Amino acid sequence: MRDMTQNVRDIAGLRAAVADWRSAGLRVALIPTMGALHAGHMALLRAALMACERVVVSIFVNPTQFAPDEDFSRYPRQEAADQTLLAAALAAAIPEEAEEPENNAEEAPPDTTRLLLYMPTASEIYPPGFACRVAIENSLNQLLEARHRPGHFDAVATVVAKLLLQVLPDAAFFGEKDWQQLQIVRRMVRDLDIPTAIIGVPTVREHDGLALSSRNAYLTAAQRQAALALPRILQEVAIQVAAGAAVEPVLASARARLLKAGFTEVDYIELADAETLAPLLRRPTDRPARVLAAARIGETRLIDNLALPS
Ligand code: AMP
Repeated sequence: MRDMTQNVRDIAGLRAAVADWRSAGLRVALIPTMGALHAGHMALLRAALMACERVVVSIFVNPTQFAPDEDFSRYPRQEAADQTLLAAALAAAIPEEAEEPENNAEEAPPDTTRLLLYMPTASEIYPPGFACRVAIENSLNQLLEARHRPGHFDAVATVVAKLLLQVLPDAAFFGEKDWQQLQIVRRMVRDLDIPTAIIGVPTVREHDGLALSSRNAYLTAAQRQAALALPRILQEVAIQVAAGAAVEPVLASARARLLKAGFTEVDYIELADAETLAPLLRRPTDRPARVLAAARIGETRLIDNLALPS
């Protein structure tokens, strides 16, 4: 397998690589992540490689988006495994025969570095004296996740804005798994005139329906089994509401069944407008809607969401 990745840890190295690509007329994608990569992240990589000749994957466990009682210190960090997974996904996405021939003595070797792994330190992202932040000032930052994680989305928006300004990509890829985050990032690039297309990628699930998440690693085998209730109940809610059932009793029953299945706390399970996330008490006929939930199982907080079938 030919080496098709390079790693940088500072903004200067990142910008130099991107500038080389730009001068060669290549399109550039960005995939922001917190590492502990899995098949969900690889779906973002495949989508990015389809759209752009070059891809930056950032790995940064952003301290500011974790509340003091959240899992920042125990969040999985596994750089070597992440690099192995990325190299394998890249090789699978780019067949060897599609590469330009090697050993051509007359020409300079082709630049086959399609992927740059950007792993900045905290002081690179937040230099001494750091004093700015992006604040999302509408109901997207008051509902659902925002109500249970105050300050979280401002911190996410700030770090995503910084990454977008560091790379200035043509397109950036985000998972629908974090639906509210995706809507907030879309709002931010519109409002701040950041010239990047924001592309949402459908949630990748295990064969039994559990959405892939770096936090699934926290689950014991029994918790992992109980966690299956989350996608299953979301799907039942989506089907019942789409069929015209009254929303409130369906959601109340879903909440009770999540608790019965082994979840220790349900932060929310709601039907919401897919774009504004405004809560809905009945199935809309003219706009897409989504069922979204967050629930805790032991120490682990899981989130998931589904589109309402039309
Ligand atoms: P994270 O590393 O958890 O911050 O996630 C980085 C990106 O991967 C975010 O845009 C997530 O929405 C996305 N992502 C995480 N899990 C999945 C999944 N199961 N399917 C698709 N995208 C995902």
